[in-house]
Amino acid sequence: MRSSAAWVFRRGNGPTARIAVPSFPMAAPRDDRPRLDRWLERAFGDAESGRLGTGWLSGTASVFLGTLGLGAVLVLWFPQWLSTERFRSLYPLPVLRGLIQGVIALAFVAGVVSLFLRRRKVLGLTGCTLAAIAALLGGGRVALPETVSAGPSLGLDWFLLNLFLLALLFVPLERAFPRLPGQGTFRLGWTTDAVHFGMSHLLVQVLSFLILVPAVTVTSVLEPHGLQAVVRAQPLWLQIPAAILVADLAQYAVHRAFHEVPLLWRFHAVHHSSRDLDWLAGSRLHVVDAVVTRGLVLVPLQLLGFSETALYAYLVFVSFHAVFIHANVRFRLDALEPFLVTPRFHHWHHAAADEARDRNFAVHLPWLDRVFGTSYFPPGQWPPQYGIAGNPVPESYLAQLVYPLRPERVSSTTE
Ligand SMILES: [Zn+2]
Ligand SMILES: [Zn+2]
Repeated sequence: MRSSAAWVFRRGNGPTARIAVPSFPMAAPRDDRPRLDRWLERAFGDAESGRLGTGWLSGTASVFLGTLGLGAVLVLWFPQWLSTERFRSLYPLPVLRGLIQGVIALAFVAGVVSLFLRRRKVLGLTGCTLAAIAALLGGGRVALPETVSAGPSLGLDWFLLNLFLLALLFVPLERAFPRLPGQGTFRLGWTTDAVHFGMSHLLVQVLSFLILVPAVTVTSVLEPHGLQAVVRAQPLWLQIPAAILVADLAQYAVHRAFHEVPLLWRFHAVHHSSRDLDWLAGSRLHVVDAVVTRGLVLVPLQLLGFSETALYAYLVFVSFHAVFIHANVRFRLDALEPFLVTPRFHHWHHAAADEARDRNFAVHLPWLDRVFGTSYFPPGQWPPQYGIAGNPVPESYLAQLVYPLRPERVSSTTE
């Protein structure tokens, strides 16, 4: 067997004749974890049990909350550079200040609990140190400048808030109702997905600008005022589901193109490379995939002139729903399944099995796939395995970023 580098494009996530693919079940060696996964395990891991009462949960919570608290204090210190311009005026500051104080206090308490319970003290010590630094820097009481001028900034505020809310909701849900109980919160590649999550939030300013480009360009040459007036005159209860339908129709088309156009597939393959699905796995999206998909979905929404409230309602819905459909949860949602995409439906989209390849493109309305003949949804069953045959996509964030642009290494049995 020899290896050669060549530009190889594939349709969908299946094998082609040119690629030697390991047979299923996929050899999924757990030692090909990203370096960051391994580094964190070396820094914080130990051989002790992670069960309740061993100081693992309190220690992990302490590090998580300490990181959030310190990050939030840094946002208060440097709002010019670390807060999202268009969100600044929306924050209920007294509430947030109280929340920051509470998070720092909880991080400290949880850290102390872990220090008492666990033999290895690194989790508790790290959490307490982060909380102490956050408190010494002023905690939630840091004074803000009178004015913060417009300009380039990172969305650290947006990152911390979303991470706090989503982790608070989904981590307990996945622990209480896991579809795969053996899959931990810190499963293979979680750090890579966390970096994807971080980058898409920190760069929210530039990404939002890029996402708006197609809609602004189209509406600058085509603005159907009459139609927009009719749409905007509709009540919200009608506009919101209509916006979801229009968005999912556009999303279906773009998503299908990302599967069927070989060059686009190389970008979208990053999303399909997750071998374990959970709430964080949905964040694994190549930046080109994210910008192109969201940018094109916004075009019909802007053209039709949905009201700002309807658009915001759609954005809030999509933010939570997109996370939910990737989650490692076993809810029986039989009554909902024909109408709304559920985790089981989207998990089949991520299935490694050949028969599920290039199926279930809709992300909100599963009946769109039935209408277009692309549905694959065996009643009551879950996919046995996720990912892409042969695991061609590398596991680290940076390698995933350049993956679509690099010649693919292929193995060949022929001389
Ligand atoms: Zn896909
Ligand atoms: Zn997905």
